Amino acid sequence: MAARIIDGTALAGRLREATRQEVQALRARGVAPGLAVVIVGDDPASRVYVRNKIKSCEAAGIASTLIELPATTDEATLLARVAALNADRAVHGILVQLPLPAHVDAGRIIEAIAPAKDVDGFHVASSGALMTGLPGFVPCTPAGVMAMLDDAQVPLSGSRAVIIGRSNIVGKPLAMLLLQSDATVTICHSRTRDLAAITREADILVAAIGRANFVTADMVKPGACVIDVGINRLPDGKLAGDVDFNAVAQVAGWITPVPGGVGPMTIAMLLANTLKAARKP
Ligand code: NAD
Repeated sequence: MAARIIDGTALAGRLREATRQEVQALRARGVAPGLAVVIVGDDPASRVYVRNKIKSCEAAGIASTLIELPATTDEATLLARVAALNADRAVHGILVQLPLPAHVDAGRIIEAIAPAKDVDGFHVASSGALMTGLPGFVPCTPAGVMAMLDDAQVPLSGSRAVIIGRSNIVGKPLAMLLLQSDATVTICHSRTRDLAAITREADILVAAIGRANFVTADMVKPGACVIDVGINRLPDGKLAGDVDFNAVAQVAGWITPVPGGVGPMTIAMLLANTLKAARKP
C-alpha cells in the first residue's frame, strides 16, 4: 500500500493565511509585527533562505528589515548590531542566519539576542524552557514537524519515535516535543550502532541527517510515519531529502516529500513565532 503524503506546502499555506489574518487584527490595534533578519557574508544557500523569509513576511503583513553585512564583519560589530535590534521597539523578532563566518562565535551571537525576540528558538533560554516545559519560542523546523503530525492525525501517545540526527536545531528540540506528546523517543546519530534495527522499530521515523536518500525501505517499519527533514542538493541541481522517497512510500503509512514537505513549514512557523513575539506586552 502506498503511503499517504503529508503535503507541507498546503498546510504551510493554511497556517500562513491564519497568521496573516491575525497580523491584520494586531495591526488594526496599532501593533505592526516586525522581524529583523541579519545575514553575514554571501553564502548562496543562506541568501536563498533569507530571501524566502523576507518574501513570506511581506505576504503575511509582517514588516521585515534585512541587514546584510560583509563576510569580514567582526564579532564586536555583529554584537553591537544585535544590541541595537534588541533595543528597537519596532523589531519583535531577530533572526541571525546561520552559518556565520568561522571567525565569529555563533553561540555568542545567539546568546546576545534578547530571549523575548528569539523567534528562531536557538537561545539557551528558549532551549531551557522547551526542556522544562515552560512557555518559550520553539525552533521553527521541529515546530513545523509537530504541526504536520498533528494535522495528519498521526497517533503520538505511546508511540515509538526515532529521530536520526542530534543537532540543536532539529534533532534535540524535536525529541523534547515528541516526548511532551507522550512518545517514547530515541535519538540516533553518526555513532549509533545497528541503526536499521532501531529505525525498524519506529512508528514515527524522522530523518535529519543531511545525506541524500540515506533512509531506505528496509529501514522502515510497515505503516510508519516517515518525516524527511533533509535538504540535499544533487549533482544535477535537483533537491533530495534524506529518505529514498519512492521506495519508502511503498512501505510507510505516511511520508513527507522533499521539496514540499518540512521546508515550507519552517517558514510558516517563523511567521507564527514573530506574531507571538509581537503579541507579548
Ligand atoms: P547537522 O549536520 O547539524 O546534523 C546532522 C546529524 O546527522 C548529526 O547529528 C549526525 O550525528 C547525524 N548523522 C550524520 N551521519 C550519520 C549516519 N551515517 N548515521 C546516523 N546519523 C548520522 O544537520 P541539521 O542542521 O540537523 O540538518 C539536517 C538536515 O536537515 C540537513 O539536510 C539540513 O539541510 C536539513 N534541514 C532542513 C530544514 C528545513 O527547513 N526543512 C531545517 C534545518 C535543517
